[in-house]
Amino acid sequence: MKLDILAFGAHPDDVELSCAGTLLVEKANGKKVGVIDLTRGELGTRGTAELRKKEAAAAAKILQLDVRENLQLADGFFKNDEVHQRQVIQVIRKYQPEIIICNAPEDRHPDHGKAAQLMEDAVFLSGLRKIETDDNGQQQQVWRPAYVFNYIQDRYLHPNFVINISEMMEQKIASIRAYGTQFDNADLNEPQTYISTPDFLDSVIYRAKMYGKMIGVKYAEGYITRKMIGFNSFDAFIKEIT
Ligand SMILES: [Zn+2]
Repeated sequence: MKLDILAFGAHPDDVELSCAGTLLVEKANGKKVGVIDLTRGELGTRGTAELRKKEAAAAAKILQLDVRENLQLADGFFKNDEVHQRQVIQVIRKYQPEIIICNAPEDRHPDHGKAAQLMEDAVFLSGLRKIETDDNGQQQQVWRPAYVFNYIQDRYLHPNFVINISEMMEQKIASIRAYGTQFDNADLNEPQTYISTPDFLDSVIYRAKMYGKMIGVKYAEGYITRKMIGFNSFDAFIKEIT
C-alpha cells in the first residue's frame, strides 16, 4: 500500500504526543497515513512492552491510521548504522510516502535525536539505486520522500512552521490517553515518572496553545524542516496561511 504520509517515532507514544493532530488533519483531508514505531518502548519505567503494544493499537484506531508497524529496534540502544538504516530504507520503500515526519533533532530523550539522524540518513540512502533491498523476496523500488519534517516533542524548539490542529485537539489527547500506563493515571501501582503526572499532559496542551497563538488559532503542532519550503507566488503563499 502506498501512503502519503509516514510518521516515525523512536517509541510508541512519540507520534501521539507530537504530531497526532496533524495526522488527524491529513486523514480528514483524505490522505493515507501510517506510523512506524522504531522500538517497543521496552525500557519505559511503567507498564510492559506487551501493554505498550495494546496501547499503540488503541491509539492507532483513534488516529484512524492506515498502517502501524513496529520495527522492534532496541529501545535506548539502537544505532544509526548500516543494519538499522537498511531496516528503515525497507519500510520507506514499502510505503513510498511523499512526506516523512520524525523525531525532533534534539530532545530530552537521547533516542529522539538519534532517531532523527537515522531517519535523515535513511531517507537519503533510500533514493540510491545501488542500495538493493527486498520485501519478502521481491526487489523493492528506490524511493526518496520529497520532504522530511521533524516534529517537536519535549524540549522547546522554535518551529519553522506550524500546523493548525484546533479541530483535532480532543482526539489527539484521546490518542495520548490510550497509553494508560504512561500518562496521568494515579490509580496504577507503578512509580511516578516525568511523564506520568497530570502536569505533563497539561504541558502538551500548553505547548499546542503556544504554537497555535503564533498563528492566531487555538492549537497547533510545530515542525522543523532542513529543506527550504518555497512558493510559486505570493498568492500561493497567502492561500495557504491561516
Ligand atoms: Zn520517545
